[in-house]
Amino acid sequence: MKKQKNGQKKFWRLGLEEFDTQIFDISKDGDLIVREGNYQYNIAAIARKYGTPTEILFPTVIENRVRDLMETFTAYIKVLGYKGKYRYHYPMKVNQNREFVLPAVAEGANLDVASANELFLVKRMIEQDRFNNKIRVICNGPKSERYMELIEELRGKGLTVIPIIEDMVEFERMKKFKGEVGIRVDLSVKIDSHWDKKYNRFGFTETELLELGKIKNLSVLHYHISSQVESIEGFVKPLKRAIELYAQMREKNPGLDTVDIGGGAGIPYNKNKRLYTLKNLVQRIIKTAKEECDKRGVKHPNLITEWGRWVVAPAQITLYKVLAEKEVLNKAKNIWYIVDGSFMNDLTDTWALKQKWHVIPVNNMNEKKLVHTWLAGSSCDSDDKYTAGGSHVSLPKRTEDEDLFLAFLDTGAYQDALASHHCLLSSPLKLIAQNGEIKVARKRETPEEVGRQFGW
Ligand SMILES: *Cc1c(COP(=O)(O)O)cnc(C)c1O
Repeated sequence: MKKQKNGQKKFWRLGLEEFDTQIFDISKDGDLIVREGNYQYNIAAIARKYGTPTEILFPTVIENRVRDLMETFTAYIKVLGYKGKYRYHYPMKVNQNREFVLPAVAEGANLDVASANELFLVKRMIEQDRFNNKIRVICNGPKSERYMELIEELRGKGLTVIPIIEDMVEFERMKKFKGEVGIRVDLSVKIDSHWDKKYNRFGFTETELLELGKIKNLSVLHYHISSQVESIEGFVKPLKRAIELYAQMREKNPGLDTVDIGGGAGIPYNKNKRLYTLKNLVQRIIKTAKEECDKRGVKHPNLITEWGRWVVAPAQITLYKVLAEKEVLNKAKNIWYIVDGSFMNDLTDTWALKQKWHVIPVNNMNEKKLVHTWLAGSSCDSDDKYTAGGSHVSLPKRTEDEDLFLAFLDTGAYQDALASHHCLLSSPLKLIAQNGEIKVARKRETPEEVGRQFGW
């Protein structure tokens, strides 16, 4: 590797805004550092003090990203002369941990819930007077009776709760609902992403929607095309279709004034390829909405995004210790590093979606002699592994005199609620780092606690 100032920092792709790694640096002793304003955290020292596996959440990252998102939309709305408003709704399903949701709400995020149980948490915050009742809540997912009752109850308390109609059964039932409602369309556009269109079962087709004609109290047209959309075209194409539909639906539904484009903004998980910048993405969205409306002479709708992954993924890292190494049979250049946690349990998408991660050492980061590794989790399952798609993860050589710790970056989205207990391994310790202090949010599970979940 070339000798240069910041060489190792660049090598590990740290300190780079385009890769969402601007908070990371390397200490002169080769430890991973996270910066928060003028505070900093030595991650190696935290791993040694608290043990591993451990997740560290940086709520400041969530606050900054929500603020950035809202400011960028507001700025382009102004610059481009767009007449609608922007609202951000944080989709709770992406990470329901209190320590994730509250910082987003503190910065002005509204919410999008996917189940009665998520809405129940909103109810609790309202009852405790913690949430301002101006917060707006969009309700996705199948509306069970319990879910509908909660929606009605919160509406009764003066909260704006907007159920999104997903099918004909809900359409009939919502005729009795007195508040504003949204409806979900399954747009007939195909974009590049891992979500297979063939299996999309959410919402009405465009034809079905137009055949419904007048929909009582309709204010929101909603779609959610996919997650981790990797090009700006993947946002522009569906938005054009949606605006066309919005214009047609407004003829019978003059109260329709909002287009909710759902989630989808992506994260450069694997730090080789940059995606789009937030500025470029937002500019294109506003510009597209404006052009498509002006062309048809319809009012600019308010815009909602429910970008979850984009906001919370970079706010958490997951730490492991390398316990042992082993030869990889039939691939002599690689060695197995066995770690003290489980990818299958705690970074479930590694196994379920072949998710790629950026993996870096937490100590010994200045080491230039690296080995090609495959990472194995601690469950006794051959699927519990991370191999970077069959290639390798470059890491320092493990030595007998010092523990080697690893960090997986961008683990804040989806993994927490999917986590499980294969082989009855304990869930990781969860730490919160904010204002220069470390707090324990969730202790490492004891054998008693894990056993209890299985009736012991
Ligand atoms: C999952 C989901 C989201 C969040 O998607 P991201 O890709 O994480 O931004 C938003 N809206 C709906 C309806 C969803 O189901």
